[in-house]
Amino acid sequence: MIYDIAIIGAGPAGLAAAIYGQRAGLKTITFEANVHGGQIINTPEVENYPALGKVSGVEYAMGIYEQAVGFGAEIEYKAVVDVQLEGDVKTLKCNDGSEYQAKTVIIATGVVRRKLEIPGEDRFLGAGVSYCATCDGLFFKDKTATVVGGGNTALEDAVYLAGICEKVYLIHRRDEFRGSRHEVEKVLANPKIEILYDTIPLAIEGEGMVSRLQVKNVKTEEEKTLYTSAVFVAVGLVPQNDIFAGKVDMDGGYIAAGESCVTNVPGVFVAGDTRTKSLRQLVTATADGAIAATAAANYLDR
Ligand code: NAP
Repeated sequence: MIYDIAIIGAGPAGLAAAIYGQRAGLKTITFEANVHGGQIINTPEVENYPALGKVSGVEYAMGIYEQAVGFGAEIEYKAVVDVQLEGDVKTLKCNDGSEYQAKTVIIATGVVRRKLEIPGEDRFLGAGVSYCATCDGLFFKDKTATVVGGGNTALEDAVYLAGICEKVYLIHRRDEFRGSRHEVEKVLANPKIEILYDTIPLAIEGEGMVSRLQVKNVKTEEEKTLYTSAVFVAVGLVPQNDIFAGKVDMDGGYIAAGESCVTNVPGVFVAGDTRTKSLRQLVTATADGAIAATAAANYLDR
């Protein structure tokens, strides 16, 4: 069969696209390589989505998933490994060898966490190194944990871990945070969080599990050892667009598109964090999903 819309990625952008596509009477299929929900499942608390109050990222992910499925969205848990995007019928090839065809494609592949690329990071993955405080924080109850980064993710992770751990180091390479003032104030008010500004991590060390982090002050050049049971890495995001290289216009690894979510390839749209945009937020991801699905519907009408 030929679907109306194939959506790659079942995060908030992809699932919002599925909701809007299904409600427009179109037959959609959504592909997800991991678990539905995308990056938001790593967020302890969402408190800036209009009218929702406070919900956990996991609660939000379950809510949007159930809503999409409730409208008849079909979700396939497989990775799309290759795409043919030219012409009226697009083809998506999956990691199990299966192929799917659709008249339009919405790219909603999102982003993954950037790595530090320092010694010990790979060796201690799952043994004290983590990219998800909400997933792994509880393993370090009453211990010392370290968060690396200066954006909203790092700030939120530090506050979340301070509720579990005895002490939290927050190390940031500059003397000013990138994250919002509201999150910075929460960090500054938390007596369990010790901030090390102008500091970069050099190496993660331990015997079996993480026990030390070597750091350096970039202004004074002073190096020292932090005794820590965990290192939570929150140093930004990297788009997941390798399979589209040479097939869709990109800018710095992100799929090039404006607020219309229209790419340079007819019938191919993009939604969420993986698009060139100035504000990567839950609310802008779901808005993109709605816009991309509506643009796909208009394209099909024409
Ligand atoms: P981000 O805003 O890109 O921040 C990444 C941080 O990591 C920056 O402070 C950066 O330092 C630092 N960094 C980058 N590479 C590094 C390296 N190799 N070593 C040490 N530090 C490094 O990433 P994010 O915090 O994951 O947030 C991503 C997006 O999601 C943002 O738009 C953010 O606002 C949004 N977000 C929003 C919320 C919310 O609204 N509640 C929550 C989480 C995330 P510099 O500052 O020096 O560049």
